[in-house]
Amino acid sequence: MARVGNSIIKGIEVEEVIKLLNKAYADEWLAYYQYYIEEKVVKGIMKDAAIAELQEHAADELRHADMVAQRILQLGGTPLLNPKKWFTHTNCGYEEPKDFDVLAILEDAIKGEQCAIKTYSEIIEITRNKDIVTYDIVSQILADEVEHEEDLVALQEDISEFITQIRAKD
Ligand code: FE
Ligand code: FE
Ligand code: MG
Repeated sequence: MARVGNSIIKGIEVEEVIKLLNKAYADEWLAYYQYYIEEKVVKGIMKDAAIAELQEHAADELRHADMVAQRILQLGGTPLLNPKKWFTHTNCGYEEPKDFDVLAILEDAIKGEQCAIKTYSEIIEITRNKDIVTYDIVSQILADEVEHEEDLVALQEDISEFITQIRAKD
């Protein structure tokens, strides 16, 4: 049955919103896995602080995937059913950790967050005054991604500073 909830969407096709959300859905799963695996392989100085942050972010990305999936279903769409499609639909891709050093891991994660901020800002621009519910959900996610970037940058700075101090003592 046609949804009244969809009839309040004006000036943008519901199919277009579903398409954008499915791309974000792919991003969230890949971001989740990136944090999931980084937290396990990370090495080096102050790695415990990094592990705590990476674990927290993994949980957030999985929660974002859930929020996006729920909205896709509300709109009458279907979230991507096959993980293979994550790689063909993603905006931000997947950065396989190659260097397990904590600073390199944080650098990869920061890049991912910066891409997420860019992607969600674009969806916000596209849905503003058109699809208020998606706009609201995406705004909540964007606030988390901005916090993620800040947490990682602050941690990266703390670790770099600590390394500098240790070297100064030599
Ligand atoms: Fe996210
Ligand atoms: Fe994030
Ligand atoms: Mg955090």
